[in-house]
Amino acid sequence: MSSLQHEGRIPPVPQELSPGNRVFTNRNLRLHTIEAIGFDMDHTLAIYNTDNFNRLSFEMALERLVRDRGYPRDPGRVVWEPRAAVRGLVVDKKLGHLLKIDAYNHVTRARHGMRFLEKEERRELYQQGRIKLGSGRYRTFDTLFDLPEGSLYTGLVDLKENDPEAGPRVGFRTLYEDIRTAVDTTHADGSLKARITADLDRFFLRDANLVPTLQRFRAAGKQLFLLTNSEPDYTAAVMDHLVGGPTGSWEDLFDLVICSSGKPGFFLARGDGRPLPAGADPRLPNRRGRCFVGGDSFFLERMLGTGGDRILYFGDHTYGDILRSKKSVGWRTAMIVPEVEEEVGVMLPLRDQYRELALVEDLLEDLVLERDHLRALGLTGDGRLLELEAEVARQLGRRARLQRVLKGAFNPHWESLFREGRAASRFGQQVMEFACIYTSRVSNLLNYPTDKFFARPVEVLPHERWSLPEA
Ligand code: IMP
Ligand code: MG
Repeated sequence: MSSLQHEGRIPPVPQELSPGNRVFTNRNLRLHTIEAIGFDMDHTLAIYNTDNFNRLSFEMALERLVRDRGYPRDPGRVVWEPRAAVRGLVVDKKLGHLLKIDAYNHVTRARHGMRFLEKEERRELYQQGRIKLGSGRYRTFDTLFDLPEGSLYTGLVDLKENDPEAGPRVGFRTLYEDIRTAVDTTHADGSLKARITADLDRFFLRDANLVPTLQRFRAAGKQLFLLTNSEPDYTAAVMDHLVGGPTGSWEDLFDLVICSSGKPGFFLARGDGRPLPAGADPRLPNRRGRCFVGGDSFFLERMLGTGGDRILYFGDHTYGDILRSKKSVGWRTAMIVPEVEEEVGVMLPLRDQYRELALVEDLLEDLVLERDHLRALGLTGDGRLLELEAEVARQLGRRARLQRVLKGAFNPHWESLFREGRAASRFGQQVMEFACIYTSRVSNLLNYPTDKFFARPVEVLPHERWSLPEA
């Protein structure tokens, strides 16, 4: 009997398991070796209605810029643009740009206000087309919480450039820092969270499979923990709404709960967590004394009696959750990337076009090789050469048409989150590099046995494409 049947769940027929809800593997992961599974809360266990949330975050930050920083009192000129930014984009504070970069930090797209820069302009502004991340000049959007800043920045830069009288009178760097402070303050002072908790249904999506997923891991003998940067009262309100029930407190689902964890600093030695007072909050009564505030990963591992690669941590933040937990303490990592579902949904109906494009590119490579050979022989005017030249032009046109169709299916400004043309975007590269597995939501794990061996796919090198079936 398979372990899924054993647990009272029949494995899905592979064809019925939608590709957007699969778990994808970058590095082999044997679930049976995992003793404790941890979860981040925001954008990991708790799925936000990002349209509603991001719009509110945008509006509250703009209000603050007007009230606290004297920005022009004409917010109607700067409007919420839901698709202004995607994760992985970089803010260039010096020049007022939003950049998309590839895995080698080459700038592949640049937006200034509402305008996209031409290739030559990008080349001129960025030496060899690249940037040096890590200086104060740049900031990367690592979480979905950052996206409202993209719309604020492009909107306000546009106003500044096109209507200097009405627009903000500060430079591009200060403009961005003001936006960052405004967004940060709405999170930190509780004003944004007060609006969220007053209308939880509007800002979160419920996932009926989440509690069964957690319960099944527990039944399989895994310890579970919650590790979130959110404060105890916000955590309690959100978790109670999403996974609380009449039978008991949501905290009973976890062996350990750590709030206000201060990731990524949590992965450095800082000391023990502070116990939450028992019974302080009816939504987080801490009956078993297993709820804490702050602390560090050494404390957490001591509390669980396990550590290193026997811990699997689910998170959405490229740096704070995934990169740091993997690099600093050697945990295995599962990245939640909700955008996967949308991108897979966009790509699937275009399957035939992707195949056709690959064929056209192979064909072009051979045609160009033969054309260049005849040219090198000096056979100008030769019938075959003329034929080849016409065919190359025809295939280039076909390729351009296909590329247009494929590009148009994604975000109109930035296209695919994970790639840039033939290469991975920086975000795509980071997912591949730091996430052992990745998936669009935690409950997708319900489709797999709790002792599943997630095996990485065969990596195909260019010279192997001739023979390997994955080519
Ligand atoms: P986690 O993803 O559960 O670890 O927690 C994310 C927490 O970080 C939430 O409570 C957010 O409100 C908070 N957060 C996100 N962005 C900011 C910010 O810019 N400043 C302060 N807090 C933030
Ligand atoms: Mg998070």
